Amino acid sequence: MLGAQCDCQLMKRHLLEDHSWNSGRTLQVPRRKPEAREAPSRSKRTVRWLANSTREVLTATGIFVLLALLFTLISLLISPPSTQVGSARPFGEIPIHEVELGGLGVLLGAVALGIYGRSGAVVALMLPALSILLDLDHLPSFLGITQPIRPAHSIFFLVADVALTAIVLRRMDFSLIAMSAFAGHLGIDTGLAPPLSPISFDYVQLDPYRVPLLVISTITAFAAGYLLRRSRRRT
Ligand SMILES: [Zn+2]
Repeated sequence: MLGAQCDCQLMKRHLLEDHSWNSGRTLQVPRRKPEAREAPSRSKRTVRWLANSTREVLTATGIFVLLALLFTLISLLISPPSTQVGSARPFGEIPIHEVELGGLGVLLGAVALGIYGRSGAVVALMLPALSILLDLDHLPSFLGITQPIRPAHSIFFLVADVALTAIVLRRMDFSLIAMSAFAGHLGIDTGLAPPLSPISFDYVQLDPYRVPLLVISTITAFAAGYLLRRSRRRT
């Protein structure tokens, strides 16, 4: 009984003290005014662009490497034995050839860097890397396994890489860099390649196509740099 009286008194005091009950209005908690969002500074945007670009460069390079190895593996499994005549270059010639391949990428990348500023850095990094990595399809020869000649130096490899890069990254500029690296690589290579591997292992002489391939490589490198600069402006 005593407890019930105490509760009743407490309630009365509470009702008298609370003006919102007396006035019939609901109690409102004052809201803090939302602070105006500050636009990220230029340095923050540059760091964010750099982090995103690094992640995308690594993803695009990973796709390229996986496809080169996949085409090599498929070629080992399905190519007729009569076409398995690929052999690695003499060991002494390999570094010179890879320097040539990387050199073209560095040259195009450096020009892209000069024209497109920091946006061209992605071209400067990826072009030489992809151009050299296409020769991963010589791996079985290095391991002493007979293989077809240059199974990833194929139009189907390029189509698969361009499509997969565009689907995964949704970036046409990265696909253009892969195109440029591929065309530049074939423009430097001499001898035979199977352009329709792994569907057909009929070999074609690359030498007559060197100039058009190098022109395609240059045009696609600059197109990639242009798209990269446009996409960077939007960030
Ligand atoms: Zn090659």
